[in-house]
Amino acid sequence: DRFGESQGRHCYEYCFGKTSPCEFCESYKVLETGRPHHWEVAAPDGSVIDAYDFPFTDADGTPMVLEMDIDITEQKRAQNALDSVSQYTRSLIEASMDPLVTISAEGKITDVNEAAIKVTGVPRAKLIGTDFSNYFTEPEKARQGYKEVFSNGFVTDYALTIRHKDGRLTDVLYNASVYKDSAGNVLGVFAAARDVTAQKQVSQYARSLLEASLDPLVTISADGKITDVNEAAVKVTGVSREKLIGTDFSDYFTEPEKARQGYRRVFDKGFVKDYPLTVRHRDGTLTDVLYNATVYKDTRGNVLGVFAAARDVTEKKLAERELDRYREHLEELVGERTKELRRSEASLARAQEIAHLGSWELDLVHDVLTWSDEVYRIFGLQPNEFGATYEAFLERVHPDDRDSVDAAYSGSVRQGKNSYEIEHRVVRADSGEVRFVHEKCEHFRDEAGKIVRSVGMVHDITEQKQHEQQLKRSNENLEQFAYVASHDLQEPLRVMASYSQLLEKRYKEKLDQDAKDFIEFIVDAASRMQTLITDLLAYSRAGRQNLASSRVDCNEVMRKVTAALSKTIEAVDARVTWDKLPVVAGAEISFIQLFQNLIGNGLKFRGSKPPEISVSVRDNNNEWIFSVGDNGIGIEPQYNERIFQIFQRLHSRSEHAGTGIGLSICKKIVESWEGRIWVESEPDEGSIFYFTVPKERR
Ligand code: ADP
Repeated sequence: DRFGESQGRHCYEYCFGKTSPCEFCESYKVLETGRPHHWEVAAPDGSVIDAYDFPFTDADGTPMVLEMDIDITEQKRAQNALDSVSQYTRSLIEASMDPLVTISAEGKITDVNEAAIKVTGVPRAKLIGTDFSNYFTEPEKARQGYKEVFSNGFVTDYALTIRHKDGRLTDVLYNASVYKDSAGNVLGVFAAARDVTAQKQVSQYARSLLEASLDPLVTISADGKITDVNEAAVKVTGVSREKLIGTDFSDYFTEPEKARQGYRRVFDKGFVKDYPLTVRHRDGTLTDVLYNATVYKDTRGNVLGVFAAARDVTEKKLAERELDRYREHLEELVGERTKELRRSEASLARAQEIAHLGSWELDLVHDVLTWSDEVYRIFGLQPNEFGATYEAFLERVHPDDRDSVDAAYSGSVRQGKNSYEIEHRVVRADSGEVRFVHEKCEHFRDEAGKIVRSVGMVHDITEQKQHEQQLKRSNENLEQFAYVASHDLQEPLRVMASYSQLLEKRYKEKLDQDAKDFIEFIVDAASRMQTLITDLLAYSRAGRQNLASSRVDCNEVMRKVTAALSKTIEAVDARVTWDKLPVVAGAEISFIQLFQNLIGNGLKFRGSKPPEISVSVRDNNNEWIFSVGDNGIGIEPQYNERIFQIFQRLHSRSEHAGTGIGLSICKKIVESWEGRIWVESEPDEGSIFYFTVPKERR
C-alpha cells in the first residue's frame, strides 16, 4: 500500500521530500557498486524501515534497483524496551554483594558481576567463556549441582567453596535457576552464591553456646531426626553424640507418642513452652524434663527443623510444687489483706470525716502540699476548690493566730524536733465562722537528717472547746456558789453552835439529862456541819492555785508532808518512803494537799500490820506517773470510781473518821492540770493510787 502511491515517482521525492537524489543515498550506492545492500532508515513520520536493495539490469540494459522495505517500527520499540530492562537487571546484578554468574547450557560463564570478580580474583574478560566449575575446590560437585539445576529447574543452598586466585577459600551457598527464552528454551543458568563464612563463624559461636548449656539441647530435622546434640543431652541419655545424630528423637522418651505430639505442636505453633516429658537413660534412669522448643528457619523463612531445650526438673519438681502452693496461698492472703486494707481505708476516711479529723502532707522535696477532703471541709472550702499551698493554709488561719502557727512550724524545724502540736483558730471561707482546731504535725527525715516530709492532723475541736468553756464557766459558777454558800453558812452555824454551848453552860443546873443530851447533839451536828462547810470551801478552792510557771520539788513536798503527819506516823508505827522524785511545774500547795490526802488515807485505812507507804514515779513520755502505795485494807473494785466523788465514803464515821472530801480534792487538783487519777486495789491486799503530771504545762 505504501509503495503503491510512490509508483512513477523518484524515491528521494517520496521518501525524503527532496528534489534531487542525495549523494549519500543508499539506493544510489547500490547503483554505483552494483551490489545488494541492507540498511535501516528512520522515515520522517517516525517509523523505522528495514530496507533491502538489490541491483539488476532491465531488458533495455538500464541499471535498476529493487528495494524491499519492511516496517520494523514495532520490533524496534520492543527491542528498546528490552534493552532498558536488561540495563536495569544488569545494575541489579552489579549492585548485589553476592557473586552472581550466568552460565551457558554448556557450562561456560557468560556473564559475571563485580562480586564474582572479587571472590575469584580473576578479571571479567578472563572469566567469561571459561568453565564455571574451574573456580571451586570441588569442580565435580559444582558440575553435579549444575546438572541438578537443569533437571529440577533450580537448586537452593547448594554448598560449595570458591578458591581465590591467591588460594583464599570462601564458603558459599549456591542458589541457581535456569533461564529461558520466551519460547521456553533453556538459555542457561543464573547462579547466585552467598558467602557463609561469617555465618559459619556464627554457628561456631552457637555451637559453643549449645555446649555451654547445662540443659540437654538438641536440634531436630523436619522429619524428626536428631541433627545435633550437646554434652548434656549425651549425659542424660547415656548415648554418644555420634549415635544420637540421625536417630529419631522420640526414641529417648518414656512416651514417644507424646514426644512426637509435642514436636508437631512446635511445627503448628512455631514453639512449645514447658512441655513435660521424661527422658530414659540407657541404664534406665528417668529424668523429668520440661521442653522448650522453637522451629528454626533459613533466611527465606523455610522451616529447617526444631531447636529443643530440656530442663531437668526432677529435684526441683517437689520443691516447686510446694512453692506454687505457697505462692497461691500468699496471693490469696495478699488479696484478702488488700481488700481488708481498702475497707479499713474507706472506714478510716469515713471515721476521719465523722471525727472532723483532716490530714495534710507536705512533700518538701517536690514542694507539694496535699490536703485531705476533711481539711477543705473544716476550712469551709469545696474539696479541691482551693490550691493546697502553705499560703492558702495561712490565709484561713485566724489573723491573731497566724504568727504562732508559723512560729510553731518553723520553730520545730529549727530546734530539730520531730513533732509539734498547736491549737489555733480558723476562719471559714464560706461563712466567716471561727472554728478551733488542734494540729499535730510530724516530720520525717532522710538519712542525712534533713526533713523531707511533714504530715499533719487537723482536728476540728470547736464543739469540744465550746463544751470546755461551758464547763469552765459552770465550774466557776459552782465554785463561786460553794464559796459564797460555805462562807455565808458558817456565820449562822457559828451562832447556832455558840448559843447551844451558851445554853448548856448557863442552864446546866436547870436542865434535865434529856435536854442536856439534845443540846449535845445540836453542838455535835453543828460542828460536823462546820467541818463539811470547811471541806466544801477547801474543795471549791482546790486546784485554783494552778501556778504553771513555778517549779515544785516533789522531794521537798514529801519532807513537808511527812513532817506534818509525823505524830500520826509515830503513833501507828508507820514507815513512809519515797524514790527520787522529779521537779515539776505547778503550785506547791496543790502537791502538798495531794500527797497529804493520799498518805493520810494510807495511814487511816491501815490493816492489822504497821502501815508501809511508798511513793514512786515512772517516766511515761510526756508525763510523770506518780504512785502512792500502801499495805492497808484495800478497796472493793466496784468502788474504784465512787471514792473520788465528793462526800462519798465506804465506811461509817464510827469506823473511820472523815467526810469523804479528800480524794475528790485530789481529783480536782490533778484535773486542774489535765492529769488523771485512779486506784488499783484488792480488799486486804493494800491499794496503789496513781496520778499523772504533764512534764510541760500548757
Ligand atoms: P475520807 O478519807 O474522808 O473518807 P476520801 O475521799 O479520802 O474520804 O476517801 C473516800 C473513801 O475511799 C474512804 O472513805 C475509804 O473508804 C476509801 N479509801 C481512800 N483511801 C483508801 C486507802 N488508802 N485504803 C483503803 N480505802 C481507802
